[in-house]
Amino acid sequence: MTDCIFCKIINNEIPSDKVYEDEQVLVFKDIAPKAPVHLLMIPKKHIHSLAEVTAEDSELMGYMMTKVPEVAKDAGLEGFRTIINTGKDGGQIVFHIHIHILGGGGPLPF
Ligand code: AMP
Ligand code: ZN
Repeated sequence: MTDCIFCKIINNEIPSDKVYEDEQVLVFKDIAPKAPVHLLMIPKKHIHSLAEVTAEDSELMGYMMTKVPEVAKDAGLEGFRTIINTGKDGGQIVFHIHIHILGGGGPLPF
């Protein structure tokens, strides 16, 4: 999607601090971290939000769930919090579905 900031990150049109990438997903550091470790996992497929996920996406969504603990472990996290904000009322600001992965000590937001 041309005017999507996270699609631009996927396409290297704007920089990001990437920590993991494969054919289906990208993980990068949140630009305004709310915890010592604050990562965002996004699918390379543009999906607006969790509210727009369909049965067609179930394999991709399942794949992301298996990657989250791998990425968290590689980031040195023993425990972590995952958040998916959905829709304006759910606190979503960037409309390309993403999973927040937060941890590393200190109080967690929300
Ligand atoms: P949400 O409120 O769930 O839509 O969260 C969007 C998140 O994306 C926020 O935590 C922002 O700090 C983060 N963010 C926005 N732009 C960038 C960017 N260019 N690089 C990394 N993180 C970003
Ligand atoms: Zn996008």
